[in-house]
Amino acid sequence: MIPAAFDYHAPGSLEDAIALLEQHGDEAKVLSGGQSLLPLLKLRLGWATQLVDIGRIPGLEYIKEEDGYLKIGGNTREAALERSDLIRTKYPILLDTTLVIADPVVRNRATVGGNLAHGDPANDHPATMLALGAELVAVGPKGQRTIPITEFFKGLFETALAPSEILTEIRVPSPPPRSGGAYRKLERKVGDYATAAAAAQLTLGKNGKIEVAGIGLTNAGPVPLKGTEAEKFLVGKAPDEKTFAEAARLAARAASPTADWRGSVEYKREMARVMTGRALAAAAQRAGGM
Ligand SMILES: Cc1cc2nc3c(=O)[nH]c(=O)nc-3n(C[C@H](O)[C@H](O)[C@H](O)COP(=O)(O)OP(=O)(O)OC[C@H]3O[C@@H](n4cnc5c(N)ncnc54)[C@H](O)[C@@H]3O)c2cc1C
Repeated sequence: MIPAAFDYHAPGSLEDAIALLEQHGDEAKVLSGGQSLLPLLKLRLGWATQLVDIGRIPGLEYIKEEDGYLKIGGNTREAALERSDLIRTKYPILLDTTLVIADPVVRNRATVGGNLAHGDPANDHPATMLALGAELVAVGPKGQRTIPITEFFKGLFETALAPSEILTEIRVPSPPPRSGGAYRKLERKVGDYATAAAAAQLTLGKNGKIEVAGIGLTNAGPVPLKGTEAEKFLVGKAPDEKTFAEAARLAARAASPTADWRGSVEYKREMARVMTGRALAAAAQRAGGM
């Protein structure tokens, strides 16, 4: 399929990109890796006459630890997460996540910022970022602001970003010792979107009990879902099978998936439960608790 005609802009700075977005208003769209936007335009499910490519703006691709945060530049490619020693050793939940996104060809282009900004509840990073308690930095005509991940997803393909704002950085609080996280996904075939998937992040206290718990679910409703009730249930409990079984039940109870060719509502909710249980067990093992 061939998309409708558009003008292509490749600004060299954030300021120029924001000015272009402001100038063209509803007609303009940010283009990053193009792995979600271009298919939408080709299928004529999305529309824009002005594409503002932010891929040539310097300084938006990095993975670093600073000021108590893991900081990921908005334009950082999935493939860069895969290659990062810091991600592999200290944030394996992010390695779990990127490795189940599409295929290597897509991951060479797709960006972490684009994955979140797209606002697709089927995308994998949103659940992981919900579990990790991330913050998103956006820059627009009024300057810079930080958006907690819990306030970012507003509806299906709808986020808190204003039309002229650009997601420039993802900040994940650096986990204290005895922390671990994992992402577990059920997919029909390698590279597919999730039938159901869950992210879990745990921190254990000196007494071995769970001190902090984060849970996020993929494809469990119109927006990425935070397993708030399950998280509350976990705090103060021992990280054992019985506890995780109940937390997984609570997380799945909050899910409201839609039936499609990946399965019925009942099947998807049940798989959300299974994936949450697996993610919690793997997270606890990585935290040194099981
Ligand atoms: C074959 C295939 C399989 C896929 N499978 C998966 C999968 O299993 N899991 C998964 O999570 N994803 C999957 N994807 C989707 C894709 O990987 C993500 O949505 C991608 O990461 C989006 O990033 P991008 O840089 O390509 O964004 P783009 O396609 O360039 O943009 C996507 C949207 O976000 C906006 N946007 C992008 N960057 C920014 C920014 N920095 N600030 C503000 N707005 C921005 C754009 O305007 C657009 O609306 C798949 C894609 C393909 C083609």
